[in-house]
Amino acid sequence: MSVDYMKIGGAFMDKKYNPYDNMLQVLTNAADLLGLKESDYIAVKYPERELKVAIPVEMDDGSVKVFEGYRVQHSSSRGPCKGGIRYHPDVDIDEVKALAAWMSLKCAVVNIPYGGGKGAVKVDPSLLSRNELKRLTRRYTAMILPLIGPEKDIPAPDVNTNAEIMGWIMDTYSMFKGYAVHGVVTGKPVEIGGSLGRSQATGRGVMLMAKEILRRLDKPIEATTVAVQGMGNVGATAALLMYQQGFKVIAVSDVSGGIICEEGLDINEVVEFIANKKRLLKDYKNDKVKFVTNEEVLTCDADVLVPAALENQINENIVQKIQAKIIVEGANGPTTFEADKVLDKKGIAVIPDILANAGGVVVSYFEWVQNIQSLTWDEDEINRTLEKIMTRAFDEVWQVSKERNVSMRIAANMVALKRIVTAKNLRGIFP
Ligand code: NAD
Repeated sequence: MSVDYMKIGGAFMDKKYNPYDNMLQVLTNAADLLGLKESDYIAVKYPERELKVAIPVEMDDGSVKVFEGYRVQHSSSRGPCKGGIRYHPDVDIDEVKALAAWMSLKCAVVNIPYGGGKGAVKVDPSLLSRNELKRLTRRYTAMILPLIGPEKDIPAPDVNTNAEIMGWIMDTYSMFKGYAVHGVVTGKPVEIGGSLGRSQATGRGVMLMAKEILRRLDKPIEATTVAVQGMGNVGATAALLMYQQGFKVIAVSDVSGGIICEEGLDINEVVEFIANKKRLLKDYKNDKVKFVTNEEVLTCDADVLVPAALENQINENIVQKIQAKIIVEGANGPTTFEADKVLDKKGIAVIPDILANAGGVVVSYFEWVQNIQSLTWDEDEINRTLEKIMTRAFDEVWQVSKERNVSMRIAANMVALKRIVTAKNLRGIFP
């Protein structure tokens, strides 16, 4: 067997921006506004644990490739760490640390009893066969096994991972334990302990947050146009649910580029087209649509922009060209710190990632609760409770934003940081 090391390619993220620095800048700003001394929140600036693993995988041709993987636990002050697993060729430790910290803040802002974690493997899964992907997932799970568990750290899907992969993680963990442990991972297939409503939950949360902000700004849904960047789990669901609510979705994009139709896209048709995972928007055929770049989608003349792809998409290079009046962040960290300041100055209302895309972790929490109690809830109950939690969180953030005259991003970080610091202080420092 030959051994070679994975080559990193296909970079489309600009690594000039360090997402962990981005997270720290916002956190520090929120801490200052809360009047916290550095000693009150210094521990929140550092992840509790960082694990880096080497994952050897036997490829279908008999060769062995070694992939790099990570699991970061940012904070367990409010409960077990919770956070997705990303497969992406450009991922690095700073990105995973930032994503883990955002999970702590996200769980705190919606007030569910979790801390934050995140995992990733540096891999382009489109280059692997299904069996290679399965072996990679099982070996990665074995390598991070000492850290995960229903009481400790519970992974979930993120970019390029899905319910099937969560099923393999659950099975691998269960084989080590000797019995089925459903609660070790969320976002599983419903047949093996997944929750109804989980696959749509993040996009549903985005749609609910868009409706809430329109209500506050006294704008009707029907006259509101939308552009969505990214047509994966989050973006496609958000586009579909917003379309069903009466929004006019005029532009969407994926990694291959974007499509625009000023009269409004037929989102049912677009989502059906890309439902086959191998299909990209560049191959969508409809005489009414114009093919454009991703940047043209981000900067098009839509009222609401939903970035739902990756980090740092709204950055200094394009922020001045943004025309939307409302941004609902489906992705984690889609806006850089500097670009955010410009959006604020331009008076653009931004519903920040830690609030806007929290629907996924809220229903993951429901899934975990059902798993540990061996219960199943019906979908209506799940969607109703999700809406209750998301709108309550929106109200709290909105109120702080108005009272303190700060952006919703700063307000959300203030609400979240206060909860994390309170939990840390109540527990005290060990020993
Ligand atoms: P996904 O892999 O299902 O979809 C990602 C989409 O983005 C794909 O359509 C892909 O083609 C597109 N894309 C990739 N690079 C792009 C680029 N440069 N320009 C435009 N489009 C591009 O991933 P997902 O689960 O939908 O996650 C998307 C974002 O939402 C990530 O930031 C993730 O962390 C965040 N998020 C996901 C969940 C969840 O439940 N899946 C929850 C909260 C936050």
